[in-house]
Order: sequence, then C-alpha cells, then structure tokens
Amino acid sequence: MSTIRVAIDGPSGAGKSTLARSAAGKLGFVYVDTGAIYRTIGLYVCQNHIDPEDGEAVPAALESIYVDLRYDGEGRQQMLLNGRDVSQDIRLPEISRFASAVSALPAVRAHLLELQRALGRVHNVIMDGRDIGTVVLPDAEVKIYLTAAPRARAERRCRELERRGTPQPFEEVLRDIEARDWRDIHRAAAPLRMAEDAVLLDTTGLDFQESEKALLDIIRERTGL
Ligand code: C5P
Repeated sequence: MSTIRVAIDGPSGAGKSTLARSAAGKLGFVYVDTGAIYRTIGLYVCQNHIDPEDGEAVPAALESIYVDLRYDGEGRQQMLLNGRDVSQDIRLPEISRFASAVSALPAVRAHLLELQRALGRVHNVIMDGRDIGTVVLPDAEVKIYLTAAPRARAERRCRELERRGTPQPFEEVLRDIEARDWRDIHRAAAPLRMAEDAVLLDTTGLDFQESEKALLDIIRERTGL
C-alpha cells in the first residue's frame, strides 16, 4: 500500500514545525522534522570543533556520526546522536548557525537523502524542511510552501526562545532570520524555493488555529481525507 506524503517547505520561523506536528497528530501521520536532522549534524560538528563550512572535514566526519529518530508517546520526534538523546541540545541558538552551514554542503545533503526518503516510504508523513517538495519527495501527494513576513517570524521566534528560557533581543533574532533566509535561498545545493506544484500558505496575519485550519484544509482537499 502506498503512503501519503505531505511536503512542507519554507523559511525558518514560519511555524512549520509546530503546525506540521499538530496537523500530523490530527491526521494520524508521522511528523518528520528534517531541520532537526541537520541540527544533529551541526551539533556534532560544533562539539568536535570542526569548521562547519569546511567542505572536506565535515563530509569526512559523517562516517563517525550515527543519526537516529525516535518518537515519544505524543508523537514528538527525538534525535539521537551516536545513541545519545540530543533533542534539547540541538535547539540551542548557536546550533542554528552550524546547521545552516553544514546543510549547504552537497555531501551532507546527499548523505541524509535516503534516510528522509525511507521515512516517507514506511509511514504516512508530514515532512518539513527546505527542499522536501523540490528534492527529497518531488512526487509528494501534497506540497505546501509555508511562509510569513520576516518580522512576524522574528516575533514568534522571540516568544519561543523566551518559553525555552533562552531569550534573545528582537533585532538580533530578526537579523539572524534574515541571514539564514539569505543563505538558504542562495546556496547552490538544494536552495530554498517553492516547488512549482506547491500551494502557498502565508501565515503573517493568521494565529495558530487559523494557520492550522488552512493547512488541514489544503491537505484534506488534495488527499480526500
Ligand atoms: O528548520 P530548522 O531551522 O530547524 O533547520 C535548521 C537549518 O537546517 C536551516 O537553517 C536550514 O539551513 C537547514 N535545513 C535544510 N534542509 C532541510 C531542513 C533544514 O537545509 N530540509
């Protein structure tokens, strides 16, 4: 039996992970956060004092990195790095920069491609990232490009960082988001762009409930669920 795959791409802070996880829970799908996988590689590189932009050292380190995903009872994805649960550590703000840098390396992307595709063969998934609809699952049943204005995304990220007990000034968060957008869009390897057959969902003026309803409406309409 074939699976249903929902690909959600978009810039950081657009609410992809929160929305995708909640929608997956309602549909009984597995939620796959691919950013967390890149973050796990970024964490290893950071902890081992490797330059994240080094196109030789990072690929060479990949053979020492064993990444695994697990789900808790509430469908939350946990990341294991060489057997250790690093789900909290990968959320530290400095790891965002490492994740973004390592993800620009073609060898890293190629290394993670099969892991991501395999998840979509086994489960009905909502998978979020930057290149899911364009590269990882180009034949996904549903593709959504989820975005919001940079200032709206920065405000949401600030609230999230506050909740996590690692607050950061708004201007810093906004600068960081804009710098990551630029890198994700302009990199040569699998740049962030909207797939031609994706549906655009802009959540700038929407609250969580409205965004989730819009997302579920698109998925239901396309899959008949
Ligand atoms: O989504 P999140 O912010 O956790 O992702 C961390 C970084 O990983 C992003 O800045 C992006 O550069 C990279 N990424 C990627 N491709 C994906 C998911 C994330 O390049 N599919």
